[in-house]
Amino acid sequence: MRLFRSFAIIILTVMTIPVLQADAQEGVDVLFINARIHVLDSANTIGDAMAVRGGVIVAVGSGPELRARYAAKEVHDIGHRNLFPGFTDAHGHLHGLGEEEMILTLQDTKSMDAVLQKVRGRVAAAPPGAWIRGRGWDENTWRQRVLPSRIALDSVSGGHPVFLSRVDGHAVWLNSRALALAGITRETADPPGGKDAFPFRLTGYIDGPGNAWDRLLRDGRTVIGDEHLVLAGLKLYADGSLGSRGALLLEPYTDAPHNLGLQLNTIDSIRARAVDAMRHGLQVCVHAIGDAGNRLVLDAYEAAMRETGRPAFPLRVEHVQVLAPADIPRFASLGVIPSMQPTHCTSDMPWAEARLGPVRVRGAYAWRSLLNTGVIIPGGSDTPVERPNPLWGIYAACARRDHAGSPSTKEDILLHFQGMKEPVPSNRYTDGWFGEQRMTRMEAIRAFTIWPARAAGLEKTMGSLEAGKHADFVVLSTDITTVPDAGLLSTEVLETWVGGKKAWPLR
Ligand SMILES: [Zn+2]
Repeated sequence: MRLFRSFAIIILTVMTIPVLQADAQEGVDVLFINARIHVLDSANTIGDAMAVRGGVIVAVGSGPELRARYAAKEVHDIGHRNLFPGFTDAHGHLHGLGEEEMILTLQDTKSMDAVLQKVRGRVAAAPPGAWIRGRGWDENTWRQRVLPSRIALDSVSGGHPVFLSRVDGHAVWLNSRALALAGITRETADPPGGKDAFPFRLTGYIDGPGNAWDRLLRDGRTVIGDEHLVLAGLKLYADGSLGSRGALLLEPYTDAPHNLGLQLNTIDSIRARAVDAMRHGLQVCVHAIGDAGNRLVLDAYEAAMRETGRPAFPLRVEHVQVLAPADIPRFASLGVIPSMQPTHCTSDMPWAEARLGPVRVRGAYAWRSLLNTGVIIPGGSDTPVERPNPLWGIYAACARRDHAGSPSTKEDILLHFQGMKEPVPSNRYTDGWFGEQRMTRMEAIRAFTIWPARAAGLEKTMGSLEAGKHADFVVLSTDITTVPDAGLLSTEVLETWVGGKKAWPLR
């Protein structure tokens, strides 16, 4: 009887919940329905509906369940297509925006003319076409309290795009060039709250040292405009590139026996700057390509963390192209993030072995070896070095082939790849170039969604479609978790949504 009673109580509880929900439906802005929603949480949850309020995901679940629970101002039918978290490029160079030298302080300006004067001065010193950025203007402190126009800004900005955020970060003053680059025209509907929409989210790292670096150290991690622009940290260089034989190697280049590459920073200067940045709550990333360059950075980071302890935001190494076997487990043990660019591998594979020889090349672009130690690998394009299409990055990560499907046979290699001499092990290229280092498909997708978010310390707000995060997502023409490798290259991004609003196409 006891057993029966508890059983009855359970049934009652289950039956009461829908009744309560129907009585008090929670209001949301949009309910997206009829979608195949890939949440990319740890359980790889798939939902078919998503409720969004204030640009933030409230819930993902089944259509009937969410329709019962939420009263939506708008219901948007996705038409049974695949919906994924918005893609993130973990490493690219956006000119002017990437180089954040140009942040004008406008807090102290007492008139629109004073702002224009500051912009004019910055324009004179800026490289052609660079973005001019500023923040802090407030028309309420001006003698004439009028909202500024793009025409006034055009008159002083030459050919430069200008982006000036208001003191509260909730409005920006753009000139015509910036509006054109952002794809905003007279026909574009104003977002609620005014023209505050930057149509994507950016996390910036400042090359250093220099004035901009000092300034960031003083201000700390800076969020501009509701996480549309985050200034997260500092970037340094340990060495050069593999193609130019500038990557710093432990032993000379196989195809240049007197050359070890270039060392651009000492262990001690990287250590000291990392300590300084971590003490200011900033993130540090260092470019390292050769095995010696990577060891130098790991040694510097290890020494820095002995002084500061584990940092608030993880230390990163950018590129991580060639590793000595002994250094592969150090990323996991130190908590350092290897930020890598899968398309560099597929661009470099025709000549990488010529530079490195048959032994060292096995530690090159060694994604599987790294992942097996428990690290994440945020994926980037290093645009403009490679094309910034994240689907191409996902393809490179799980195929390790070029877009023609090469390499797939031994003959392929002998024909197209430098430095290959018989005998080529027969199984070495049939799964792509050193195919044993491929990522799985899910890892490759994570490399361009949740892993970059985690690597930038932004996993609480982006990177997956879990409740509480920005409703940033793409609608794709295929299910990229199951489409064959080649199908990734023909997959189309049909729509891009940022903060629950359609950012592309604009109509
Ligand atoms: Zn780069």
